Amino acid sequence: MLETTLDWKRIAELNQDPALQSAGNAMRWAAESGLKLALASSFSAEDTTLIHLLAQEVQRDSSAAERIHVFYLETGRLHEETLQTLEECRKRYPALRFEGYFPQRESVENLIREQGLFSFYDSIENRKNCCFIRKVEPLKRALEGLDGWITGLRQSQAVTRANLPVFQIDSDHGGILKLSPLSSWQEADVYKYIEENGVPVNPLHSRGYPSIGCAPCTRAVEAGEDVRAGRWWWENPEHKECGLHASGDKS
Ligand code: SF4
Repeated sequence: MLETTLDWKRIAELNQDPALQSAGNAMRWAAESGLKLALASSFSAEDTTLIHLLAQEVQRDSSAAERIHVFYLETGRLHEETLQTLEECRKRYPALRFEGYFPQRESVENLIREQGLFSFYDSIENRKNCCFIRKVEPLKRALEGLDGWITGLRQSQAVTRANLPVFQIDSDHGGILKLSPLSSWQEADVYKYIEENGVPVNPLHSRGYPSIGCAPCTRAVEAGEDVRAGRWWWENPEHKECGLHASGDKS
């Protein structure tokens, strides 16, 4: 069904449809909605799972690739393994379009000139400033002109995501759709899907990195630690968002 109006009422209806709580059905809905969408990827296990689901929809109907592409934020501080996973996905899913968004050169040059290469360790303010330059501003450009975006967020990833619905209106980005098909999945569901479908997986995951981010701001976690404990590990858990997924989103 082609979607013409995605207002609060329609979003509530979509969230109440039990069939759309399934990730495969939610991706099918996205492919058939006629909306211009993009899948945001950090090349985590969740994101490559979504890329695989999207590729299946494109295989079924090649015109879906014209409406939905994959984008990633090339912050300049990514792990080598993440870039390798990107290339693996590019080769494995040639029908999909992968678009990288880089930070503004002048902003990065000024940041490093004035504060050095590791200012994010000094204060939350500095960390948020670096995230703004390398992630938030490029994301804004990546979302320009879109009807919505697709994310690999899951409720069980963080205290800040506990009430995450599949469908949201993203008030931080002009009221576009924010679709999180894996919202109710547990980590074990992701790995089961990856194994059963031969989905590319970022090698960092098997080295103790449940969450993929920038290299200097992400560490491996110990068994039993929170999945996001390795992200900005020097900060309080309530601050652990980079501004890409702000708290103003509503279902
Ligand atoms: S995660 Fe770290 S390096 Fe990456 S943009 Fe944020 S502060 Fe900068």
